[in-house]
Amino acid sequence: MNQQTTAQQLVNSVTLLLNASLEVLSYVDTPRALTLLVNEQVTVIRADPDRFVRSTHLTLPWPSIVALKRYVLIPRDLRSDPELASRGEVLQRDKRTCAYCGARGTTIDHVLPQSRGGRNTWTNLVAACTSCNNRKADRTPDEARMPLLFQPRRPSEPSRTQQMVWDLLAAP
Ligand SMILES: [Zn+2]
Repeated sequence: MNQQTTAQQLVNSVTLLLNASLEVLSYVDTPRALTLLVNEQVTVIRADPDRFVRSTHLTLPWPSIVALKRYVLIPRDLRSDPELASRGEVLQRDKRTCAYCGARGTTIDHVLPQSRGGRNTWTNLVAACTSCNNRKADRTPDEARMPLLFQPRRPSEPSRTQQMVWDLLAAP
């Protein structure tokens, strides 16, 4: 197996990341898992017996499963109901852009108003500017004649969990 093939396989490979409690967190890119390994943030639970990652100075196992050494707390409400989204998550998803006019939007609008049973879910929350939010008030986009510029969706779970794990690891 030549080195180029190995590098390409490495980039396309994923590793299962477990919490210190061995609870499954997410799949991560294997190069990222190796970075965690080199930084001594994870231990290898299972490695591919036939493959190794070789660099100039060291040979590492090819990790198929790694576990964090330090337990990271994943907020329980997010785990129990993946449909629920926080204000910060929605602003990040929508890049602080108003879903109704495209201007800068730093407030959160419930597409179906809360007063009418609209929940704090990924598909019911959008970023909105103050002016659109006030104008729409307790109406649906149809009633207010304010069509959405995009359909709010739930980000894929792996990317979301992964982001959360990186954020937690980055925190002091
Ligand atoms: Zn707006």
